[in-house]
Amino acid sequence: MDPLQSPLQFLKGVGPRRAADLQRVGLHTLEDLLYRFPIRYEDRATFLTIASLRPGMTASVVGEIVGCGLRPTRRPRFKIFEMLVRDRTGSLRAIWFNQPFLNDIFKPHQRVILYGKLELTSHGLQFQSPQYEILPGERDAAEDPASAEVHEDDTLHTGRIVPIYEKTGTLTTKMQRVLVHQALSQLPPELPDPLPPDVRERQRLLERRRALEEVHFPAGGTSLDALNTFQSDAHRRLIFEEFFLFQLGIVLRRRRSDAERKLRPVVITDEIRESARRVLPFKLTGDQKKSIAEIVGDMKRPQPMNRLLQGDVGSGKTIVALMAALVAMENGLQVAFMAPTEILAEQHFINIRRLLEHSRFRLTMITGATAAKKRRELQAELAGGSMQMVVGTHALIEDPVAFRELGLVIIDEQHRFGVLQRAALRAKGLHPDVLVMTATPIPRTLALTAYGDLDTSIMREMPPGRHPIKTIAKPESRRDEIYDFIRKQLDEGRQTYVIYPLVEESAKVDLKAATEMADHLAQEVFQAYRVGLLHGKMKQDAKDRIMGAFSRGELDILVSTTVVEVGVDVANASVMLVEHAERFGLSQLHQLRGRVGRGPHQSYCVLLYQAPLNDQGRARLAALTETTDGFEIAERDLQLRGPGDFFGTRQSGLPTLRVGDLLRDHQLMEEARREAVAALDDPAQTAALAALVNASWEQRFGLVGIG
Ligand code: ADP
Ligand code: MG
Repeated sequence: MDPLQSPLQFLKGVGPRRAADLQRVGLHTLEDLLYRFPIRYEDRATFLTIASLRPGMTASVVGEIVGCGLRPTRRPRFKIFEMLVRDRTGSLRAIWFNQPFLNDIFKPHQRVILYGKLELTSHGLQFQSPQYEILPGERDAAEDPASAEVHEDDTLHTGRIVPIYEKTGTLTTKMQRVLVHQALSQLPPELPDPLPPDVRERQRLLERRRALEEVHFPAGGTSLDALNTFQSDAHRRLIFEEFFLFQLGIVLRRRRSDAERKLRPVVITDEIRESARRVLPFKLTGDQKKSIAEIVGDMKRPQPMNRLLQGDVGSGKTIVALMAALVAMENGLQVAFMAPTEILAEQHFINIRRLLEHSRFRLTMITGATAAKKRRELQAELAGGSMQMVVGTHALIEDPVAFRELGLVIIDEQHRFGVLQRAALRAKGLHPDVLVMTATPIPRTLALTAYGDLDTSIMREMPPGRHPIKTIAKPESRRDEIYDFIRKQLDEGRQTYVIYPLVEESAKVDLKAATEMADHLAQEVFQAYRVGLLHGKMKQDAKDRIMGAFSRGELDILVSTTVVEVGVDVANASVMLVEHAERFGLSQLHQLRGRVGRGPHQSYCVLLYQAPLNDQGRARLAALTETTDGFEIAERDLQLRGPGDFFGTRQSGLPTLRVGDLLRDHQLMEEARREAVAALDDPAQTAALAALVNASWEQRFGLVGIG
């Protein structure tokens, strides 16, 4: 058995109570504990003489206890533990508040190491609540306690480069240090290593056990800088290990999918080309043509397509998807088109129906709102094959919808979709082609790794004739000017969105704020206009009613939470006003902005923020006013927030990483990918490596299935 899988309750000092505490924070095995790295390191190895200390310094001192004891204060039950320490250059006071147990720990003549910040008080220079460690044995050479040697092995918390852990639950940094130390001492001299020896050699990686030791208790002389930037040899080795495992799974998954055979590859004839030309309402952009060629190229292959189509809001993804759908249908295959919300499904349905008006193909829509009887009829038609295409929400997969020959699955706005749902739909056909569309551009650094099992097509070019949206950021104090501006736009016949943030933790408060805002705007600021309110807590039909009214022009102003974020198309809307813009992510603001500028009118995005902004807030808003290129914004967003927040959800297809960081370590990830591909190409190793990617792999990385 893998010694790292040994449960934590076998550690000394871990009773049932502590074990339960540890389990609560997700620590079950030695591996869990040892792969929870320090968040930073402190150099407590260099001792200063007491005479050289100055107020404000953070320092380590080694000395002998001259005297110590508890001192009562005026406040009952409030006690101070006091200690006087000396070395050959002087003496120093240290105090701790309310830790009476210290009285049982310290005795005069003990040698101790103290580490902490020095303050100047009326008693002179002193440590307040320093970290401490008692050195074994009393000092032998009485003269010079400070020069007496301190062995790193003797100390955990001071006198060395000390690991600092994030406190979690009842597990303090100090406690974790002790547990980790015990765990390490309990490990056999060699650990099974998932990295093949030749990979380890090529990448010059430390042996696993040594790396685990070094990452927690670095040897003296290790560069503190390397440690604190997670670039020490130990870090590199362990991060590589994680990435290598991750990439093994991704590459294997890709190979498995490439080994699958779909129902039938499509063929392209002149007739099909002609039929596509008839459907096209406009001239395609270069990027649209290129993407269609890539998609159709995949569809012609015997393996199922796994392709991600990335294109900024408004770049014209729908027509690309429709061309793919047309090719499938011309080849006698059925198409399922999934959207994340009913509003969007309906919008796609209306658009696509119009485009397919003169074709021979039949199209329908199934959502949660479809009446049961109607749904049964439609299901029969899909199962029988007389219906070629269906647009819908996840109701498409929740219901027992069956297809006769499902050849293509198109998924719009993938970030809203659970991977499980995607996998379920895909399972309805015999390995259909899958095209996932997203308007959240994925920075190159992430695309390579997180979506390593998807091919990607990218559309950066916008269809001609767009007026770039003008974006301005204003502090709330300028609200009145903005309202005047909106009035002018409304008087010209335009419509306006007003967006309120909805933060998870305070959803109730925010909802109240949004509701009150709508009332305030309706009754006071925009009395002469029609104001509607839309939010996520409303019933679906109420939402649809409001959204419908706004898109038909029966409302002038739509106050909304971010439910309008994705894809809703109202060409006449020309102003997007975002309240508390500082609370939104960059990509989210960019998505919101994409709701306007969809018609012939000059459009505006106004970002109202609460002053003062911090540096990050300023940088975020500046990014938006400076560029409308979604790819550029995505890169900046990633830099500003890190990959975890970038997508916000676990469903994004991003792996849950334990020690690596997609952004910080992306080069290592690229190395790991290369090595994983090479290792799997070696027939002598494939089986052993594939065994590492067992059922727990998906759980381990929080992935179930992409595409
Ligand atoms: P998105 O990529 O955001 O889904 P859509 O597919 O909704 O974008 O397209 C946005 C708008 O641009 C639609 O009104 C669509 O008809 C129009 N459009 C798309 N491609 C072109 C093109 N090549 N020329 C002109 N208009 C286009
Ligand atoms: Mg779209």
